[in-house]
Amino acid sequence: MCRHLGWLGAPVSVSSLLLDPPSGLLVQSYAPRRQKHGVVNADGWGVGFFDGAVPRRWRSASPIWGDASLASVAPALTSGCVVAAVRSATIGMPMDASAAAPFSDGEWLLSHNGVVDRAVLPVSPAAESVVDSAQLAALIFDRGLHTLGDTVSEVGLADPSARLNILAANGSRLLATTWGDTLSILRRCDGVVLASEPYDDHPEWRDVPDRHLVDINGADVTLTPLTAYERPRKRKVPPR
Ligand code: GLN
Repeated sequence: MCRHLGWLGAPVSVSSLLLDPPSGLLVQSYAPRRQKHGVVNADGWGVGFFDGAVPRRWRSASPIWGDASLASVAPALTSGCVVAAVRSATIGMPMDASAAAPFSDGEWLLSHNGVVDRAVLPVSPAAESVVDSAQLAALIFDRGLHTLGDTVSEVGLADPSARLNILAANGSRLLATTWGDTLSILRRCDGVVLASEPYDDHPEWRDVPDRHLVDINGADVTLTPLTAYERPRKRKVPPR
């Protein structure tokens, strides 16, 4: 399982979110504290941030700890909305930068922490990679992020062994789901962090319960339980 992180708030540097915290994504890439699936996250990384309304991305297929430029550039990358991830590739999935989150449709940045059987997903020509996460991202983009909770519930029912922790942002909104893996939230005075696991030992980190949708709009944080659909199992999820 990968580890991901989202930020919505005042402009802050990418290094302050990923590199500086004692257990930030950099450290989580080789010493995650709560990872249940996989050991290290060495199969690539990506950081996406909004520059006004424009999502910009920097992705790599190499371990984040070996990047020669990130530590130098990250302090100069500032944004009020960031989605970043370090990757532990699922067996059989491609190993190039296009398979690393965040994925984008030009409006949203999206990371998937988990695994899903691609056979239950519709084939999407818009997917950025054949990796399961990109195929799932394409379905979510196609359905619209306003249906994120429903789409995740439906995919989770079609593939009961799927893990579907999603993190998505559009510059003014941060959305997430928990479906099979950990997610924590930290409300700071300058914004909100969502992360697969806390990046430090601040006492105000809170765990998000499993099978929930998190919706962050400005300083408003809403948690909604995801309800299961009564649908036949291992059925293909139809496009709409
Ligand atoms: N299944 C995705 C991949 O192969 C995500 C893996 C993960 O969450 N570790 O990249």
